This record gives sequence, C-alpha cells and structure tokens, in this order.
Amino acid sequence: MKRVLVAAVVLVGVMASTAAAQDVKAVISNASKAMGVDGLNSIHYYGTAQNGNLGQNNNANQPWPLTPANDYVRAIDFAQTALRGTWQTYAVPVTGGAATLQAGQQNINAQSPWAQLLEIYITPWGFLKAAATNEAAMRSQTLDGKRYNVLTVTGSAKSPSGQPYRVVGYINRDTNLVERVQTWLDHEFFGDMLIEADYLHYRDAANGLKFPARIVQRRAGWPTFEMYVLGANPNPANLQQLLAPPAGRGGGAPAAAPAGGRGAADGRGAAPAAAPAAGGRGQGGAPAPAAAPNSEKLAEGVFRINGAYNALAVEMADHVVLFEPGPQNLQRARAVITETKRIFPNKPIRYGVISHHHLDHTQGLAEVVAEGITIVTPAVNRNYLVSAMSAPRTLAPDALAKSGRKPQVEGFVGDRRVFQDSTRTFEIHVIRALPHADGLVIGWLPKEKLLVYADMFNLPTDATGPVPNPPVVGTQVFAANMERLNLDAERIMSVHNLNPDRLTSRAELLKSLGR
Ligand SMILES: [Zn+2]
Repeated sequence: MKRVLVAAVVLVGVMASTAAAQDVKAVISNASKAMGVDGLNSIHYYGTAQNGNLGQNNNANQPWPLTPANDYVRAIDFAQTALRGTWQTYAVPVTGGAATLQAGQQNINAQSPWAQLLEIYITPWGFLKAAATNEAAMRSQTLDGKRYNVLTVTGSAKSPSGQPYRVVGYINRDTNLVERVQTWLDHEFFGDMLIEADYLHYRDAANGLKFPARIVQRRAGWPTFEMYVLGANPNPANLQQLLAPPAGRGGGAPAAAPAGGRGAADGRGAAPAAAPAAGGRGQGGAPAPAAAPNSEKLAEGVFRINGAYNALAVEMADHVVLFEPGPQNLQRARAVITETKRIFPNKPIRYGVISHHHLDHTQGLAEVVAEGITIVTPAVNRNYLVSAMSAPRTLAPDALAKSGRKPQVEGFVGDRRVFQDSTRTFEIHVIRALPHADGLVIGWLPKEKLLVYADMFNLPTDATGPVPNPPVVGTQVFAANMERLNLDAERIMSVHNLNPDRLTSRAELLKSLGR
C-alpha cells in the first residue's frame, strides 16, 4: 500500500512538471507574439534619458543624482550579442562654473562581463529571447492589482560563488507584455544588489514591435537610468553603423563606461563627482606607485596610510582610530587595515571614521566590518550603511560574508564626536551647509594642529596660479567651517592625493580663494 502511494505521488509530480513546462513555453510564446519579438534580430531606439550616479547621492537617504543624457541612441544586436549606446551630457562640473558638453557611450559585446551583458538581457525583448533558450521556471504574482506570470530564467553566466545569475521577468497576464525585469549582481558595497527595470506605456512600432515609452532602471533602490523612448525600429538596415564606435575612439573595444548608465564614458560623469579632478582618480584601488612608502609618520602615533585614497591612523592609549578605513574597494580597505596593524601590532583598531557615505569612500567597508571595527559616522548615514553591510552576499562571498558579523555602526547625534583619553584628543566635526554631501566630517588633532578632510576642495596645482573664478564652493564652505570651529590647521591631510602630492595648510587653502 505504502509503495503504491509513493509511486502515485511521483507520477503526479512528473505530470505537474510537464504541464508547467508547457505553460512556460506558452507564456513565452504568447509574450513574444504580443511584443513582436519573433523575427526580431536587432533593435534601435532613441529618446531622452538621465543617468543616475550609484552611491553618490548628496544625502544617504535620497535618490542617486541624475544627469541628463540627451540625444540617447541605443542599438542592440541580439543575434551577435552586442549593444551600443550614445548620449550627450550638458552639465555643470562638480567644482562649479560653466556647464560643459560631454559625449557618453556604452559598448557591450559577447565577451563583456555579465555586469555589462545584463543590460541586454534585462530589456523586455532580450529577456524573452533568453527565456526561450534557457531554463525557465514560472510562478504567478499580483502587483498593484495586476496579475503577472513571473518567469525566472537561469542562464550559463556564473557569479564568483559559482551560483548562476538569474533574470526574472514579469509578464502581464492580460496584455502579455513584459513590464518588469530584475536581476541580482554582486557588488562590493551593496552585496547581492537588485537591479530592476520597469517598462511602461507600451507603443507600436513597425512589424508588430512593441516598445515601452518609459524605462526606469533602479539599482540598490534608486533610479540609475531613466528614459523616454521616442521611437524604435526593429531590425534596422544600418545596424552595423549603429553598433560601430567612431574611428579613433577605441576601435570597438568595450568603452570605459560602466553598464547601466552610471556616468559618462570617460568615467568622470557629470554628477557630483566622487573625486576632485586632480590626483587619485582612476587608479582603481591599485596600490601607490612602487617607490612610495605604505605609510608616513606625521606626528607621534599619527600615520598617513598612503594610497590613491589616503587614510589616517591615530593611536590612542589602548586602541587605534582609523579615519577613512574603507575607501575605493575591498582590496584597498584590506591594505589600509594591514598597514595599520603593522604600525601598531599591539593595539586593536577599534573605530573607523568615514569622511562621508559616497561609494568611492565606502566601497571597501565590508572588510572593515569583517574586522570587527565599529564604523563611526553622523546619524544621517547610519541606516544606509547598516542596510548595505547587512545585505546578503551570496553571489560573491567576501570576508564579511565569511565572518558572519553584524555591522557595528555608531551614528552619532549632533555636530561632533570626540575620541579622548589620557594620551590624546581626536575631534570629529560635521561640516555644515556643504552641497557635496550631508554628514561629511573632518578629523582634527588639536595638539598636533593637524586636520584631515575629503572632497571639499581641490587646490590648484600651482599655488601661484590664478584664483578660481567663480571660487570653488566646497573650498568656501571648508574655510567657513574652519573659521566657525576656530581650527588653526598648520597641516591639512587630504584623503585624495593633491597634485603635487603634499600636506597643505589653512593658509594655502585661503590663498586659493584669494584671501
Ligand atoms: Zn564625495
């Protein structure tokens, strides 16, 4: 009796999965017909767009800043797996002054990493093509009163953990149109980062092609790309021309532009830039040039940990405080921690004060959390950091995932946090009224008259050069705050290397303002 029951259960299971497979096939086929994807080998669409700068919001609890991407043109060849997008950005540089025109581009081909290729597979057409040729599972879900067939497609691209990347598409059960596509990408700061694109207000093009008039792509919760699509062409006759980068600009090599509309092709973007133009940019976490020492003693028990982004290690009676413990990436954070431990082998690093929440200053924080270091930052940044450092990290398990630690983030209230014991005083002050970021702090060693800061100004390379006109807003705010706090800074250490690399002073800073 028992054996018969087992057999019956197995049989039902087989029947159910066969029926499900037929359902999945029918859903994909119906959607492909409705969207005009049968016979669609390539597509060209155009309109006006905006790029969002991931992790560079001016307040940790607000959307990523958007910059215009006008004259946005995109071509995708589904048969050859290729994509090219171009746009024009007209925006004010982060230092202020007149707006400048910048050309942006994005080039993806079959050899590109998944982080870029996903841009093809999260389009509604690319998703359906992937669903038709890969393993797909289906469930139904109701969102905002609309019923969806939700397909999870697993392809051959694998994450560092060996887990395949998944793409999930929401097909409206009434219209058979793809209205949302999701995937998850490993990210050093955000962990398994949700990338989600909404496709709204479908319109008709030639040959039965349907295209969304509105596209919104979000990463880690806020839009990184938005577009109003004005028109679309299936199988454009000039496809090769649309896909070819202009001569002399890289000859078809994938552009530097990160996938997903994260800034202009030159990597600088036009949104509030992460870094001043001079020094330290684009080194991608590579260690300082071989000749440079790993650290440099600035005062008794006070060391600059050298790199493209510098950190400051401050010795207290029974522990060490690090200012800017996790910039750039995990590798850089590890290097900062290792060097600090080498200098102070007998004292634990207890606190890590971040200058501000921007991604280029926090992307390595998972290493800091894994080390058991408490992150110290104004309360405004706390939830953002806790949420990122608590996210699942299954696609690329890092030191934090392996440590199993929960993030310790002290979000201090008010304008200051002072580290003080019998040996030293190290003051952390919140900068007021800074456009660049809320909750940005400086570190001040009153006895040593040494100040550490990030991102507020960029001194001219030649101190005798002309005073910037209009003056750099960040420099003015920095000067006003030093005045307010009465900080007589004889030496100022910049997190970003100055050009030429040096410590500066309050006097030099004021001089750059013509004072
Ligand atoms: Zn910044």
